[in-house]
Amino acid sequence: MNDCIFCKIIKQEIPCYKVYEDSDCLAFLDINPMCKGHTVVIPKKHYALITEMEEKDLSSLMNGVQKVAKALMDYGESVNIIQNNGPYAGQVINHVHIHVVPRNKDDGLHLGQWRTTKFENMDEIKEEIKKLF
Ligand code: AMP
Ligand code: ZN
Repeated sequence: MNDCIFCKIIKQEIPCYKVYEDSDCLAFLDINPMCKGHTVVIPKKHYALITEMEEKDLSSLMNGVQKVAKALMDYGESVNIIQNNGPYAGQVINHVHIHVVPRNKDDGLHLGQWRTTKFENMDEIKEEIKKLF
């Protein structure tokens, strides 16, 4: 946690392009943006995974995300909200962060356009997942 780059940003030990802050979260431009205005929103309290977050911290993070998304809806025409958990989901920074990505007509990004697969055993899959709650 001490060497967490996003904790260092919160402590202002390293700089960021801050766009929004409140008592619980911070939003700043992604340093390697996929498009102009690509922003990440982070909780001020360190959590590695969204699944570990306390309800009140998650709730205030999502409030911050919504505020940023509203601003970026005005910056562009649409937004994608993306959150990676774990290495196979593409998580590189182990401090929870939510990407808010402004989108525009013909911007050439292909987020949200995934390859689909047909499963014959949807009932079985549903039961497997229901057991995990
Ligand atoms: P993820 O793949 O979901 O873990 O995304 C981590 C994101 O953090 C990447 O998009 C990086 O470009 C971004 N990032 C890493 N270091 C910084 C930094 N110092 N300031 C802003 N964004 C960063
Ligand atoms: Zn951290």
